Formats: sequence, structure tokens, C-alpha cells
Amino acid sequence: MTAPDTLPVIPFVSEAEGGERRAWQSALPEALSRIGIVKPFEELTAAEKDTARVAIVANPDPTKVAELKNLEWVQSLWAGVERLAADLPVDGPQIVRLMDPQMADTMSEAVLAWTLYLHRDMPIYAAQQKRKHWQQRELKLPSEQTIGVLGLGKLGQAAAQRLADNGFNVIGWSRSPKSIDNLDCQSGPDGFDIVLKMADILVLLMPLTSETRGLIGSKELQKCRKSVKLINFARGPILQDAALLEALESGQVEHAVLDVFDEEPLPEDHPYWDQENVTVLPHISAPTITSTACTIVASNLKIYFETGTIPKSVDRMKGY
Ligand code: NAP
Repeated sequence: MTAPDTLPVIPFVSEAEGGERRAWQSALPEALSRIGIVKPFEELTAAEKDTARVAIVANPDPTKVAELKNLEWVQSLWAGVERLAADLPVDGPQIVRLMDPQMADTMSEAVLAWTLYLHRDMPIYAAQQKRKHWQQRELKLPSEQTIGVLGLGKLGQAAAQRLADNGFNVIGWSRSPKSIDNLDCQSGPDGFDIVLKMADILVLLMPLTSETRGLIGSKELQKCRKSVKLINFARGPILQDAALLEALESGQVEHAVLDVFDEEPLPEDHPYWDQENVTVLPHISAPTITSTACTIVASNLKIYFETGTIPKSVDRMKGY
């Protein structure tokens, strides 16, 4: 075992504050105690900044990351890294996002939960109760419903599989063609249109990139079935707010469950707050779990220090 005083210093660069920062600053040093000395950026000496080859980052200030001139890679504590990819130079350190099977499980549970919420008309019954209105709606079977999952990556595949296990028809969409048991897999622009046309409930689970920014606007919502329902668990800017509000108003979209927004926290004067047919969630569908994330980060860094292998990193051309 390496003696503690010869362990490498691993900068932790984060603008997180309060309890979140304290949680990471206590959990990371403990989880990595045999691998390196985790130090907040603010406590690094000039020599430690110069010798650091890897840093752990969570919403970092890019100017601080730039001060670590010899970094080979950064380990993000989040799964979505669009801000990091936008902030760090393309020829800068490689970006490794958090890929945690626990997060995929948590996200698939959230997708199933909120799909059932829409499928079993919970928002409508809640609204009826407010008006003391007694009216039963026709019950559809999961096998009569098609759920479109946009994005078939780590989270999308887990979610799609869980929906299929629950008896729903699932049609998924990705950038490259895929073949997955029990799933109708589509790709490319034609595949996108097929998913839009077939879905009773559309779930967004792709990364925010230059290709997906604003992907769902009026034209795309008009291609959907009348009264389609939406779940956005990906990133706010993928869905155009004005187009969604118009489609909610016309009834083209019956209900939207939104966990992510252009600006977070959602500003108090945003129209989504007051829409009966919008469920606003405060970015909770699949939070990073400190304990499991620390285990994965520790394993990635141990392998790197022992073998020099950097985990699979973000393709800067594709943006994810
Ligand atoms: P991932 O493993 O990188 O998968 C991304 C999927 O999206 C892949 O299937 C990819 O296609 C597809 N995709 C990307 N660009 C596309 C395009 N232009 N057209 C069609 N498909 C495209 O990502 P993940 O781990 O599943 O995470 C997805 C996103 O979820 C994250 O980026 C993050 O923004 C969001 N997220 C949200 C929360 C929350 O709490 N709300 C938590 C975690 C993550 P290929 O398979 O062909 O590459």
C-alpha cells in the first residue's frame, strides 16, 4: 500500500455550496483515502496545482480548472456534462461523466412512476377532486399504450426496459441504430418521426447537445398524436417552452411532467407554475447518490493511478 504522504493530491473543483459541498468534502476523502488526497481547489498549493493529472469536478468554475495546467482528465460527479463540455476547451482535459448503475435504476423507477401517473390519469383525478367532481375515465391497459423513449443510453435503456417489463409497448430512439430485446428501436430523422407519431407518452432522456437543443418545437409536437403526454427528465433547453405552452393550450399536449428547465430553480413568474396540465418537479428524477458515486469515482481513479487507463470519456465532437 502507498504511504499516505506519497499519495497524489486530487483537486476537488466545485461551485456547490452548503450541505451539498459539505457532503462531498466529507465523503470523497474517505472513499479515496487509499488512492489519493482529495483537496478542495481553494486549499491547493501552487505545486499541487501544477502536478495534478486528474480532478474531481461538480459544477466547476472553468477558470479554476484551467489553472490545473497538467490535467489529463476530469471526473464529473454528474451524468449530464453539457456545461462542462461547453466550458472546457476541446483540446483540454478529457471529460469523464458519472456512469452509475444506481442512477440508471433510480431514473428507470422515476420514468415508470411518472408514466404510471400519466397513464392512470392522476393529474386529472387530482384536478377533479379540487372541484368535487366525480367522473370515471375509461381505463386503458399498458399493452394498449405506446411509450416513446428519446435517448437509449445508460438511462434511456434502463427506463425503456422497465416500462416494457410493466407491459407497455416501448419504442425508443437513438442516434445510432440499435437492437435491444423487447424494444422497437428507431434511429435517425425517419425514426424520430415514427416515434413522435406512435407515442401516447413521450419521455425525453437524451443529452443536451448542439443537435438536441430545441429539438422538440411546434412542428415536432404537431407530428405527435393528439393529446400526447410528455415527460422531460433530460434537459430543459431540448424542449421549446413557447411551443409546449401553445400545445398545452390547444390540447395537442394533454399534460407535461417537467423535471428540468432552461433556468433552475424555475423562476417564480414562469407560466409553468400555474398550468394545471403541467407538473413541475425540482430536478429530482435521478439525483447523484453520494455513496454509490464515490464508489465509482474511487474505482475509476484507482485504475487510472495503477494502469494509466482513463475511463471512456465524452466525445467532444458529438457533445456527449
Ligand atoms: P448516454 O448514455 O450518453 O445516452 C444518450 C442517448 O441519447 C444515446 O442513446 C444517444 O444515441 C442518444 N442521443 C444523443 N444525441 C442524439 C441525437 N442527436 N439524436 C438521437 N439520439 C441521440 O446518456 P444517459 O446516461 O442515458 O443520460 C441522458 C441524459 O439524462 C443526460 O445527458 C442528462 O442530461 C440527463 N439526466 C437527467 C437527470 C435528472 O435528474 N433529471 C439525471 C441524470 C441524467 P447513441 O446511443 O446512438 O449514442
